[in-house]
Amino acid sequence: MALTGGCRCGGVRYRIEVAAMPRTYACHCTICQRASGSSFAHQMPVREAALHVEGEPVEVTIVGLSGARSIQRYCPTCYTRLYNTNEARPGLAIVRAGTIDGSEHLAPAMHIFTSTKQAWIALPEGVEAYPDAAPIEAWRAFLD
Ligand SMILES: [Zn+2]
Ligand SMILES: [Zn+2]
Repeated sequence: MALTGGCRCGGVRYRIEVAAMPRTYACHCTICQRASGSSFAHQMPVREAALHVEGEPVEVTIVGLSGARSIQRYCPTCYTRLYNTNEARPGLAIVRAGTIDGSEHLAPAMHIFTSTKQAWIALPEGVEAYPDAAPIEAWRAFLD
């Protein structure tokens, strides 16, 4: 199956080839709040090789706290942030779930950095959640 998505103006579109519907997670860290201009970032990790982009996103490189470089891709016209890659996690693309067509049907399967989540957000009962970064075993299970 293939997922499709794109930016607000339609200048950049993408297609993601997947065997099954990938899961999404919400990051409630303060950097994601600020970078998204919202309350959390809703993300869908996919294999970078499965992501086919039409259009010419601009790349903005940001060095994270760990020193690893994160390359963010934006539409050059409307500046929607579409996805990023991180040199600490080669081969993985983190797609902004809200840019996926049909994103209204996506619900985060995991919440991270809940220690800094905004007070008004009530997480669903029993959902997988971590106060800070997810432990490596949780990531492995999530990405499987
Ligand atoms: Zn655009
Ligand atoms: Zn974050």
